[in-house]
Amino acid sequence: MSERVVSCSLHTFCDASKTAYAAAVFARFEYSTCVQVQLIQAKSRVAPAKTVTMPRLELLAATIGARLATSVVKELEQRDITLSFWSDSSTVIAWIKRDDHWGVFVWNRVQEIREVTSKESWRHVPGVMNPADLPTTECTVQQLLQTRWWEGPAWLKLPAEDWLSGEPQPDEKMVEQERRKCIVSSLLCKEEQTDWYYAFSRNYDKIVRVLAWVLRFVNRCRKVRANQGSGKVVQWEEIMLGEKCVIRYVQEFFSGHQDERISHLCPYMDSEGIIRIRTKIIERRDLGDFGIPAILPSSHPVVEMLVLQAHEKAYHVGVQGLLSLLRERFWILKGRKTIRGILTKCVVCRRHGAKHISTMPPALPEQRVRDAAVFEITGIDMAVPLFLKDCRKLWVCLYTCAVYRAVHLELTSSLSTESFLQTFRRFVARSGRLAIIYSDNGTNFMGTDCAFRQLDWEKIIKTSATARID
Ligand SMILES: [Zn+2]
Repeated sequence: MSERVVSCSLHTFCDASKTAYAAAVFARFEYSTCVQVQLIQAKSRVAPAKTVTMPRLELLAATIGARLATSVVKELEQRDITLSFWSDSSTVIAWIKRDDHWGVFVWNRVQEIREVTSKESWRHVPGVMNPADLPTTECTVQQLLQTRWWEGPAWLKLPAEDWLSGEPQPDEKMVEQERRKCIVSSLLCKEEQTDWYYAFSRNYDKIVRVLAWVLRFVNRCRKVRANQGSGKVVQWEEIMLGEKCVIRYVQEFFSGHQDERISHLCPYMDSEGIIRIRTKIIERRDLGDFGIPAILPSSHPVVEMLVLQAHEKAYHVGVQGLLSLLRERFWILKGRKTIRGILTKCVVCRRHGAKHISTMPPALPEQRVRDAAVFEITGIDMAVPLFLKDCRKLWVCLYTCAVYRAVHLELTSSLSTESFLQTFRRFVARSGRLAIIYSDNGTNFMGTDCAFRQLDWEKIIKTSATARID
């Protein structure tokens, strides 16, 4: 053709059916008087054996279309040629055009397509007008010749303005189906606030003792003479002051004695700055703190230490007992619930409270249940030694019948095999011959076993048979 080419463009069509997916690249040459369309290359593939959704198959078709167009451009060495991609799946076009995060299957293919093509070059074509439909379905030679498929669709020969325009709305449900499923996890790091006066220990007594030392130091610095102890040990008065100091610190949890959380208890603050409750027995002075217990919050690390320590000191007493003990001096808010919660942390109580593993007892062996003479089946063991007045040792050899639980005791002065054989002989003389003996691996039993093995059993059996002994 001698006419000058006005413009040249490549059009890649992609389509899929349930059995195959295909892509076809057509070149469109625009001359001054006419337009010519020619097939450059087509490729079709059989659909995967496992069930794949139609949008995914359409995406596979788009992927091979993008690869095919790239290889054609490379071969033609026409880098600046206009490329257009056509698919009849609005879902696939939505996947390619939207900047969303898709599932692995869609994401990998969309990324590849977007690397080699521009997302603006992807357009929608109705299925009946898509030339790539033919390689995905059955087609006879006559049909192929009639359609003159290799000359491209008729509408492509029209001016670009007359092509199909407008994007059909994709099925949002289909598009969203392939959105990457994200697991949103949040990690909340809670840094526990630890006040200085209990930061160094988890032991309530130690905290009180350290506070007592601190008070002694402060009083010495201030040159306060009252309540000032001396020596290497803190006095109990100092310990009491230390404990009061700890309680005051713990009660900083409340905003004074008019705090809303404790106002229903009608508390008051005593002369030492401790918030206390007035009970009905306040007039009895000899009870000490019992009539005016100090209020303690339910959720405070020091209260937890106090409860655990009182629990251990009272030999792991239960909730009610511990509550009574603590109420002699303190009024813990939500006391029963708080103590129950804290006691679940006591390892000793948990270990003792654990359920034992129970199994079905197995059936007794035949030798324990069958009919037999007394001591026909016997177990033997040596008891711990007895000490005589003259410091000599004696052992008890215990014979027990496996069936009737009868017991026969024999004394022996040694653990030697010979001594055991003597007891055995006495036992047999009294109880009759045995059929089966059970024993542990005691050296005297093993020695007896060896001695028995050395016997000439053939000779014994022969003699016994003559004497009519079974
Ligand atoms: Zn306990």
